[in-house]
Amino acid sequence: MIISMRLHSTQEEVDAVCDRIREFGYKVHTIQGEERVVIGAVGVGDVTACLESLQAMPAVENAVRISAPYKFVSREFQPERSRIRINGLEIGGSDFVMMAGPCSVESEKQIMETAEAIARMGGRILRGGAFKPRTSPYDFQGMEVEGLKLLRKAKEATGLAIITEVMRDGDVDLIAEYADVLQIGARNMQNFALLKSLGRAGRPVLLKRGMSSTIKELLMSAEYIVAHGNPNVILCERGIRTFETETRNTCDLTAVPVLNGLTHLPVVIDPSHATGKRSLVPPLSRAAVAIGADGLLVEVHPCPEKAVSDGAQSLTLPQFDAMMRELAPYLEIWKRARAAAVAV
Ligand code: PEP
Ligand code: MN
Repeated sequence: MIISMRLHSTQEEVDAVCDRIREFGYKVHTIQGEERVVIGAVGVGDVTACLESLQAMPAVENAVRISAPYKFVSREFQPERSRIRINGLEIGGSDFVMMAGPCSVESEKQIMETAEAIARMGGRILRGGAFKPRTSPYDFQGMEVEGLKLLRKAKEATGLAIITEVMRDGDVDLIAEYADVLQIGARNMQNFALLKSLGRAGRPVLLKRGMSSTIKELLMSAEYIVAHGNPNVILCERGIRTFETETRNTCDLTAVPVLNGLTHLPVVIDPSHATGKRSLVPPLSRAAVAIGADGLLVEVHPCPEKAVSDGAQSLTLPQFDAMMRELAPYLEIWKRARAAAVAV
């Protein structure tokens, strides 16, 4: 069950509701939102009697039964789409949001040149890894704090918001000082200590689907972040591992409409990690627009052949420009479809 308290309920009213829920045998989990407290009740008890009792309490605005194992992120809990605000823009609303940049921050020249081009070409958020999860311990591990400082510089110069990866719970506060969105990589989707620490991060989180994770597991991981106090989660399909070897991963495009049915959270596609090949990024990006994703996260590099990571899947700056131009008419259709969906 999820119980939403009325706006500005007092602590005594919240405590009274929690006590009543416990009397019915449930465990209580409260979330202090900016305006209201929401209470999750889990366990086994007499749901119908409990709901009736709670609905009769004046401080309770709404009490509903949620059948999905993920509660707060479910459509049952919140039928309308979540709009996540980032630096004056919104993901999940009436605009398709383009996030782009290099796999790794490598140098001042590289990130500034990329950021300026992306801003000019219509991107809204600059990506760039400062802390990199690499399969080999001998590969470049990221510029770390120096990389974060360069991202800040690029933001100051261009106005682009910043998304960058956090790999461990101990780094959340540090990275949140520099980033507008915290990226959780595929390899960390089930790092539960990290997910819990994002609850108090004060920044939206982009949660990538693990390469061997089901949609339900992705939603359960999102639930961790929301249940620990941060409702601003964006989901990202970045390809899953299958028997296919022609592409780096297999993009589960269907995950977008499936997720749209199950959750109110925005969903974006990462066509770069999904394919591993730059030639496949524009067609997959078109498909992401057509299937109703809320945005794209694309790797772009001024000189991919010299990139320290993921060069083969990175678009050059002119290729990114060409893709943006090619996507423009599809984005017009996307906007009309989104406006019609919101109006229904
Ligand atoms: C990345 O975005 O560079 C990255 C490491 O992605 P993923 O976690 O999807 O592999
Ligand atoms: Mn990468």
